[in-house]
Amino acid sequence: MPMISKILIANRGEIALRVLRACKELGIACVAVHSTADADAMHVRLADESVCIGPPPARDSYLNIHQIVAACEITGADAVHPGYGFLSENAKFADILDAHGITFIGPTAEHIRLMGDKITAKLTAVELGIPVVPGSDGEVKTETDALRTAAEIGYPVLIKATAGGGGRGMKVATSADELVEAWSTARTEAAAAFGNDAVYMEKYLSTPRHIEVQVFGDGEGNAVHLGERDCSLQRRHQKVWEEANSPALNVEQRMNIGQICANAMKKLKYRGAGTIEFLYENGEFYFIEMNTRLQVEHPVTEAITGIDLVHEQIRVASGGGLSVTQDEVHFHGHAIECRINAEDARTFVPSPGTITHFHAPGGLGVRIDSGAYQGYKIPPYYDSLIGKLIVHGRTRVECMMRLRRALDEFVVDGIKTTLPLFQDLVSNQDIANGDYDIHWLENYLARTSV
Ligand code: ADP
Repeated sequence: MPMISKILIANRGEIALRVLRACKELGIACVAVHSTADADAMHVRLADESVCIGPPPARDSYLNIHQIVAACEITGADAVHPGYGFLSENAKFADILDAHGITFIGPTAEHIRLMGDKITAKLTAVELGIPVVPGSDGEVKTETDALRTAAEIGYPVLIKATAGGGGRGMKVATSADELVEAWSTARTEAAAAFGNDAVYMEKYLSTPRHIEVQVFGDGEGNAVHLGERDCSLQRRHQKVWEEANSPALNVEQRMNIGQICANAMKKLKYRGAGTIEFLYENGEFYFIEMNTRLQVEHPVTEAITGIDLVHEQIRVASGGGLSVTQDEVHFHGHAIECRINAEDARTFVPSPGTITHFHAPGGLGVRIDSGAYQGYKIPPYYDSLIGKLIVHGRTRVECMMRLRRALDEFVVDGIKTTLPLFQDLVSNQDIANGDYDIHWLENYLARTSV
C-alpha cells in the first residue's frame, strides 16, 4: 500500500477535527469537505484546504460519493478518512475509492459487507469463535419455525429484522401466544421500514450491560485488542456515557474476551479499527454486532492505553502495520466520556442555535473533543452532538471526582445542552457504584421526570 501524503476527511463536527489533529501531528496534509451550512465550521478553518461539496442535507453533501471523489481529484488527496456515521460503513464507497486508486482508511469493502448484514455477521462470529446470543440459525421463515426455535431457546425471545438498524424493528415475546403475534407484526414492520421482511430470533436478555471490545488488525493476520468500553448508559439505544474499563469486569474477564476478539480478527485478517459489541449478563458475553470503523467513544480507550487510534488507523492504511504487540498494550486508570448534545437535558428535544458563550474545562486528565466555539451557530441539519468531555483518573473514584469538577467548569450558553443530565449522573449512587444495565438510564429518566 502506498504512503499517504494528503488525507481528505469525509465528515464534519468533532470527528472531522479529531482526524485533522492526527493528520497535523503526523505531518500529513488534510482536506476538509463541508456543506454550505458548515462553511464556518472549525474543521474547515483548521484544515490545509477545504472544498464545499453541496447543500445542507447530508444526502446531497456528506453522503454524496460523487462530490467527495471529485474533491479528492481536485485537491490531489490520496486517502480518505470517513470518521463515523455518514459513509464510514458504506462498502460501495470503499469500492469506488479503490477503483480510483484512493486509499480508504478502514477495512476492506468485503469485511464491511460481511458485518453489515446481521445474520451473516452472526454466522461469521460463530465461525470465528465469538460467543453469540442463542437463537435461530438464520432467518425464521414460518410460524412453525418460530414456535420450535422459541421452545428450544426458551422465553422470553426477541424477533429482530435482518435488515434492521438503530434499534428498530425488534419485538419481545414472553409466551407462545405472544410469539405468533410478535412474529407477524415484526415481519410487517420490517417490510415497511427496511423493504425486507426477513426476521430472525434471539433469546431476550432482560438486564444486560453493553460491553464492546476495541480491536485493531493490520490486514495481514496480526491483531490486538485494546480492552473494552462499557456503554450501558443509553437512551433509545443511543449511548450517552461510556467508560473504560467496564466496572463489571475483572482483569481475567477483560483479557479473556479481548483475546477471543483479537484471535477472531487474526483469522479474518481484519484491517484497521473495529469494535465488537456484546451484551453481557451473568458473566456471559453475547455478540450483537461488529462496527467496522472508529467509534464516537474511542477516546476512553485512548485515555487508558495512551494509543492514538487515528494515528494507528493511518499507519495501518499506509501499510506500516500495528505500532504495538499485545504485550505492549497496557491499561492505566479509568476514563469516562460524556456526550454533550445540543438538546434539552430532560425532553431531549434538539436545540440548535447560536452559542453565545463557551468555556471548556481544562486541567490534568481532561480532554474536550468539540468543534464548538463562542459565536458558533449550530446548524439544524445534523445530529446534535456538539462535543465530548473525556476525563481520565488513576482510579474510577478519582475519575468521577475530576468529572464532577470538569462539569462544574463547563459553560455553554445560548442553547440547551445535556450538561445538566451529567451533573445529575455524576452524583448518583448507582453510577458511583458502577451498578447499572442498559435499562438503567431510561428507568432513571422515567422516575425523575418532572
Ligand atoms: P441495531 O443494529 O438496530 O442497533 P443491535 O442488534 O445492535 O441492533 O441491538 C440494539 C440494541 O437492542 C442493543 O444495544 C440492546 O439494547 C437491544 N438488544 C439487541 N439484542 C438483544 C437481546 N437478544 N436481548 C436483549 N436486548 C437486545
